[in-house]
Amino acid sequence: MNTARRTHGFRESVIRGMTRLAREHNSINLAQGFPNFPAPDLLKEAAIKAIGDDINQYAITWGALRLREALARKYQRWYAISADPEREITVTCGATEAMIATLLAVVNPGDEVIVFEPFYENYGPDTILADARPVYVPLQPGRALDLDRLAAAFSSRTRAIIVNTPSNPAGRVLGRAELEAIGDLCVRHDALAITDEIYEHIRFDGEHLPMATLPGMRERTVTISGGSKTFSVTGWRVGWIIAPPALTGAIRKVHDFLTVGAPAPLQEAIAAALDGLDEAFYRQLAETYRGRRDLLYSALVDAGFRCTAPEGAYYILADFSALASMDDTEFSVWLSREVGVTPVPGSSFFREGGAGRPLVRFVFCKTEAVLTEAAARLRSIGGARQTRPIEVALRSGLQR
Ligand code: GLN
Repeated sequence: MNTARRTHGFRESVIRGMTRLAREHNSINLAQGFPNFPAPDLLKEAAIKAIGDDINQYAITWGALRLREALARKYQRWYAISADPEREITVTCGATEAMIATLLAVVNPGDEVIVFEPFYENYGPDTILADARPVYVPLQPGRALDLDRLAAAFSSRTRAIIVNTPSNPAGRVLGRAELEAIGDLCVRHDALAITDEIYEHIRFDGEHLPMATLPGMRERTVTISGGSKTFSVTGWRVGWIIAPPALTGAIRKVHDFLTVGAPAPLQEAIAAALDGLDEAFYRQLAETYRGRRDLLYSALVDAGFRCTAPEGAYYILADFSALASMDDTEFSVWLSREVGVTPVPGSSFFREGGAGRPLVRFVFCKTEAVLTEAAARLRSIGGARQTRPIEVALRSGLQR
């Protein structure tokens, strides 16, 4: 019997569950966001060298000095943010740990934390584990942030807002006016911005504006990012946090007791990549992702989904209500079993009873070959539907 108080309020990860389902159905996994292509050679060679050099023991709990120094150089070079490696940078086990460690460190029980909805599913459990009260504000694909609704969500109880740009799963890249509005509200209400910038280099429109560069925000922003998406190494678990010294002090304590530290040799390799990969690498990354986005987007539109081409990150949230009247979970299982493409049910990006029912999310962080095959399977839905209504296929599928 589960009597654990803290886990009562939340579900298991649907994203990770769909990966298991895709394996069972031998279906193309467009559910969980991890690349199926190789990481840069420079990064892999640096990891091999670090292990060869016996960098096998714990790094300093808040991160190997070499990585913290490489991060300081990166933030200076890219965004003109100066961050002190000794007092303002913490290396974590992925952005996932960075987010939960930050919330546990800075939020008091009962504080409100503003979360954009649809949200990356971890933020729900993260706020529950931190004893915070989430307050939701819509952020939809292809739509500007409703600044009046945002302003109405702030109050004297607001401790922080979680800002994920480019965003998962909405695909928005927040523009300067939107970010400045968020920043002004944070200043006015003495709230923190906790930003998840893990997709900072995967963008098709607009520049990446770190919240910490906006007026008055450096001292009230916790900037989170990591190597997973930029260097296609989601299994390495190397992320980081840039925050003012007092916040960093609190976050480092939580981080130390949660995980002690991120993998030492892989920290060396990420440092080598941050220092060694040039502009061309980042340009190529965004360009290749644009091709993958276009490939999946056009297939979804042809198949009869309603969706908007994302401005950044590698997800498409698609409305399937023109295709079937089943709910998002049934549709995801059907698509996985009958069509051989596995998405994530939309409801996992919304609060309980939220607006995710006619939605599913597909990833496009896959090779052109895999996406081309997925696109062909998705385009076949139309034909399959004319001969065999989806609901009938679903019932027979479920009986197997
Ligand atoms: N961020 C990715 C996603 O949304 C991976 C999630 C995970 O399992 N850590 O799919």
